[in-house]
Amino acid sequence: MEKVKKTCGCGCASVPEEKEKVLENWYLPYMDKKTKGIEVEEKPSPVAIFYCAGASNVGQSTMLASVKAANSVGYDKAALLCLASISAGLKNIHNGAKNARGIVSVDGCPMQCALKTLQKDGFEPQKSFVITRDFEVKKNFDLNSREDIERIADAVAGGILNVYNS
Ligand code: SF4
Repeated sequence: MEKVKKTCGCGCASVPEEKEKVLENWYLPYMDKKTKGIEVEEKPSPVAIFYCAGASNVGQSTMLASVKAANSVGYDKAALLCLASISAGLKNIHNGAKNARGIVSVDGCPMQCALKTLQKDGFEPQKSFVITRDFEVKKNFDLNSREDIERIADAVAGGILNVYNS
């Protein structure tokens, strides 16, 4: 099959410059350097996203939907941070959360492990999702379930943007 060459649409042969979306999660290496006192190019802090990543359908959905959401809004606006590092008391991720423009937590069920872990470390997320409550997905232990991922990801992306713009 012949490849269709992209042009700018006005009839000339030039190819329009596409604005490349930042897919690389720059935030962790940036914070790592910053906390070690290494010189970094200063960037505005994105919204930090913590998801519970629990061992159930809804727990796994928190991770899949958060990754999709961060990819869609861009890593200049969303930083996926490790919840386990907060539990472990690691400074790097704590500082990442402290310097973030805001925090979004995504939990699978009413146990709200992500929210409670963050609260224990002194953080109060501006937006908190619970998949069973907000999307009416029933919890089960089918870890390969992809139920409603698009719908959840769209809502999480909206939540990230609301926090980013507030
Ligand atoms: S919030 Fe629910 S799904 Fe997530 S880790 Fe806790 S118990 Fe598991």
